[in-house]
Amino acid sequence: MGSGADRTAADWFAAQARWHLLGHQGCVYCGGRHCVFRIERDGRVEYYCSTCDFSVARDQQTGQHVMVPGAHNEVPDLILNVEFMAN
Ligand SMILES: [Zn+2]
Repeated sequence: MGSGADRTAADWFAAQARWHLLGHQGCVYCGGRHCVFRIERDGRVEYYCSTCDFSVARDQQTGQHVMVPGAHNEVPDLILNVEFMAN
């Protein structure tokens, strides 16, 4: 339960993209607020958390997702589960 291992980079991206709006730039990885930057460049959209170094990106042309785990291993499942259940 809640290891995150069964979640794909695409899942993370979708959850982060939504939580970025709903959670006021919140991070789905560490649960921090006002710490996630949305970076758009070279046809690529990336969300980066300055608190835990979590990042997730999507290449708009290939549709490929890349997810880099944050520094904190304890993922706040409350936030994550709410987000992923909303899919
Ligand atoms: Zn974070």
